Amino acid sequence: MSLSKLSRHVSHLQSSAIRELLKHSKMEGVISLGGGIPDAALFDHEGIQTAMEQVLASDWNDAFQYGLSEGLPALRESIGELMAGRGVKAGVDDIVITSGSQQSLDILARVLINPGDIVVVERPTYLAALQVFQLAQAQIESVSTDGDGMNINELEALVKQKAVKAVYLVPTFGNPSGVTLTPARRAQLVALSKQYDFLIIEDEPYSEINFSDTRYKPLLAHAQEQGEGDNIIYTSTFSKILAPGTRVGWVIVPAWLKRAVVTLKQATDLHTSALSQALTEQYLQTGRLPAQIDRIRKAYKQKCDTLSHALNQELGEYLTFHQPKGGMFLWATFKDGRNTTEWLKNTLANGVVFVPGEFFYSDHPDHSTLRMSYVTPSEENLKEAVRRLKISLT
Ligand code: PMP
Repeated sequence: MSLSKLSRHVSHLQSSAIRELLKHSKMEGVISLGGGIPDAALFDHEGIQTAMEQVLASDWNDAFQYGLSEGLPALRESIGELMAGRGVKAGVDDIVITSGSQQSLDILARVLINPGDIVVVERPTYLAALQVFQLAQAQIESVSTDGDGMNINELEALVKQKAVKAVYLVPTFGNPSGVTLTPARRAQLVALSKQYDFLIIEDEPYSEINFSDTRYKPLLAHAQEQGEGDNIIYTSTFSKILAPGTRVGWVIVPAWLKRAVVTLKQATDLHTSALSQALTEQYLQTGRLPAQIDRIRKAYKQKCDTLSHALNQELGEYLTFHQPKGGMFLWATFKDGRNTTEWLKNTLANGVVFVPGEFFYSDHPDHSTLRMSYVTPSEENLKEAVRRLKISLT
């Protein structure tokens, strides 16, 4: 058999650069700023174990039987409550459980995108979303970002020129940019989407990992306040606040899209693992999530401060970056225009790995950028990583 048997759209698909890099990060002695995975040391072992015991003691029908494609009703109800805390009104019927936001994106691309449809992303954007939109054969256009998130004036110029089907963005504590769309730009984007009739896919996995008390209202909440919102599709996940291995996320779908999303979910995998859903619901019932989120926020903030302080001290003359207000990533740019993919060879030789920025662009890559995740290394290792980056400069 040969690769010529592969379908056309899959044969162009590239393996995620980050997954390739993770191989290096497992090598002895290497400090990884590469992967975007949560710190497993912070998982709530006790709470998850208690929830699992409760599932096994009482929840066999929900946990081990086939379930609804929409997802476990009790879990959808709990997610509705969680969303109320984020300022969004979402009832049980508006929510579909997915096997993580990655699946939400895949389902949305398949129900919404025809080959050649224009999807606008941020520059830089989340790599695996690019893969999804490429698989759906979208025509991907990009709009620049700055310290205030996506440049909405630039987007406006684009939507005036071209028939944009959807805008995909991570507005809060972005991956990879670490930046957050300001409230003014949120309002501007929501108004623009109405005026030019495009969809917004709002991907929000990181909003709870907030390093300050300033809350950033989702785009969907902005729209709902004006009695709108039927062109905004919102997805989020338990991956970063509970554990990614459970593979439980959700999507909030407007009424017109519900049937298509549920039918596609059914055709994909019937439903998300009933065991994972029951476990997540039991965990929420223990009431431990708010304290757990608080623990994660504090720990990641501390690590973010440690990394940014060390970068400013040791590499301040070489790098610029926006201080993250939350999330898991720090995005930096070399002032001397250095190519970070080339430079990675030096840093690997010195035992530190990061993700070169070029992989996060659909077009016009800025080769002098890099993404650093600060959440898995210890604070000592973050400082050591920066020392190693410094000696890799020459
Ligand atoms: N969207 C973004 C922006 C992400 O960073 C991630 C995880 N890296 C996902 C979606 C997918 O998350 P999950 O499928 O684990 O919910």
